[in-house]
Amino acid sequence: MKRSLLLFVCSFTILLAQAKPVHAKNFEDSISIRTTKLEGNLYFIDCVNGFGGGNVTASIGEDGILLADDMYAMMSGKLKAALHNISDKPIRIILNSHFHGDHIQGNKEFQNSSIIIAHENVSKRLLLNNKPTAPTMGMMPFVTFRDSLTIHFNGEDIQMIHFPNSHTDGDAMIYFTKSKLIHLGDMFFFGMFPAVYTEGGGNIKQLIVSIEQILQRIPADVRVIPGHGEVATMHDLSEYVTMLKETVHIVETNMNNGKTLQQMQQEKVLSKYNALGDGGAQTTDQYLAMLYKLLSVEKKS
Ligand SMILES: [Zn+2]
Repeated sequence: MKRSLLLFVCSFTILLAQAKPVHAKNFEDSISIRTTKLEGNLYFIDCVNGFGGGNVTASIGEDGILLADDMYAMMSGKLKAALHNISDKPIRIILNSHFHGDHIQGNKEFQNSSIIIAHENVSKRLLLNNKPTAPTMGMMPFVTFRDSLTIHFNGEDIQMIHFPNSHTDGDAMIYFTKSKLIHLGDMFFFGMFPAVYTEGGGNIKQLIVSIEQILQRIPADVRVIPGHGEVATMHDLSEYVTMLKETVHIVETNMNNGKTLQQMQQEKVLSKYNALGDGGAQTTDQYLAMLYKLLSVEKKS
C-alpha cells in the first residue's frame, strides 16, 4: 500500500487528492504524528502507522514556529496539535521544499496565520491548476524567490537555496545554518529509491549534479532531513548520490548495448540495490523502469 501510494503521490499528486480511498476516514485516523527533538530549536516530524505526507522540520523557539514542509491537508489538525504540545507560540512561517501535495497541502490550513515561502516555480505550477475543484487551491506561497533567500528566525539564519530541475523544477534546500541541518525535500529519499518525473521539471542527471554541489558546499557534520525516510547524515547523502550515479550508468550502458527494459529486468541489472527496492517508495523493477523512461526521453532530446 505504502509503496504504490508514495509512487503515485509524486507522479499524480492532484489525482490522488481527488480520488480518496473508500475507507479514507479510518485510514486517516490510524496515522499519527511523531516528533523527535534534534539540535537547538529543531524538531523532526514524520508520520507513523500510514502515509500522511513527507517529512517536516520545525524550528520552535522565542520567535514562534517555522516549518519546512507541512504534509497532506488531512494531517493538519494532528500536526498543529503536536506542535502546540511543544509550544503555544504561533506558527508564523512555512517553507515549501517543492510543489508536491504530500509536502505542501498543509498550506491550506496554515495560510491564515503563516507566511508561506517557496521557489517561484512552485507558484507557477500551483497557478496552472488553481481552480476551486483543484486540491492545490489555496496553497499559494505569499513570498517567492529565484535563487536564494535568508530568513532570520529563532536566533539563526535559515537559507533557502534553489537547485534547478532535480526532483522538480522548484526544489529548495532549506539550511538551518546554526543548528547545522539541511532539509532536502524529495531531492533525497533515504533508504529507498527516489522518484523523479520530467512532468514536474525533474531530471535525474541534474539531480546528481545538485546533490554533488550540496556535498561540496555543506560541512560533513550537518544533519540531513530527507523528503521520505529517517534522519540521515551527509555520509548517507554521499552514498545516495553514488547509488544514483551507478544505477544511471548501468541502465545507460545497457541501453547503449541495445538491451530492452524487459531484458534488464530479467537480468536484474540493479540487484545490488535490492534493499532500496524494499524501502517503501519504488520496487527495484519500478525504479529501473523509471530510469529507462527518463534516460530514453533524454536520448531523444
Ligand atoms: Zn515530491
